[in-house]
Amino acid sequence: MEKILEVKNISKKYQNKEGELLALENINFRIQKGEFVSIIGPSGCGKSTLLSIIAGLEEKTTGEVYIEGEKVEGITDKVGYMLQTDCLLEWRSILSNTMFGLEIKGKKEDKIYVENLLKKYNLYDFKDKYPSELSGGMRQRAALIRTLAIKPKILLLDEAFSALDYQTRIMVTNDIYQILRKEGITALIVTHDISEAISMSDRVLVLSQRPGTIKDIHKIDFDIENRTPINVREEPKFSKYFNTLWKELKVDE
Ligand code: ADP
Ligand code: MG
Repeated sequence: MEKILEVKNISKKYQNKEGELLALENINFRIQKGEFVSIIGPSGCGKSTLLSIIAGLEEKTTGEVYIEGEKVEGITDKVGYMLQTDCLLEWRSILSNTMFGLEIKGKKEDKIYVENLLKKYNLYDFKDKYPSELSGGMRQRAALIRTLAIKPKILLLDEAFSALDYQTRIMVTNDIYQILRKEGITALIVTHDISEAISMSDRVLVLSQRPGTIKDIHKIDFDIENRTPINVREEPKFSKYFNTLWKELKVDE
């Protein structure tokens, strides 16, 4: 399989009022093309820091990040980012929101690509509406299309669904998962929700308490056809994985 992301020996020290704070220590892992990997770990262990470093938004203290073999040094088009808030601009229509990234990059010719995504994922009829006229789930889908418009090689999701209520969250993760699989996107998902991590991933990476180090990497394997985040929740293996990860996290809390 083709390797798309390589994280090598990353550590991160912040300077704050009290002095130095070691947030991450000696992080090493790789992600293959098309793979979905989740990162779980106690609050404050450095998950968001790690994603920001991979995206080239935050300086690292040691180590390197490679995407498709190319060293990440600063912000890169190869990375898409989804956060807890969908960051849609309320005064722009859905089409104009999803075109936003392309406008900044001066690549308006990709409008057809965006329109096709809107059609494919049932948002085209809403293209002239404003974000406030859409449901939470549809807003997230629009935010995803805006991110996909720049054709990222890897999508980073930082607690992207945690602001949604439980019911909506289940539906939205299922929706987003299927879109990402269909588009062949590679995803790195930070979540504090063990079930979400298991339901969405091929592997789950467990970080220790700060300074975050990799404690363990679990392969998640449901041998069912047309796997979705909803249907794997019914599998006997699901609770087995849940218990293993739960115990591993509890040690640190
Ligand atoms: P997580 O996302 O796992 O909750 P973060 O990556 O946000 O953790 O933070 C890891 C640690 O680094 C925390 O102790 C946090 O307070 C600290 N931290 C994060 N950003 C900064 C910053 N800009 N300056 C100083 N300390 C920071
Ligand atoms: Mg965080």
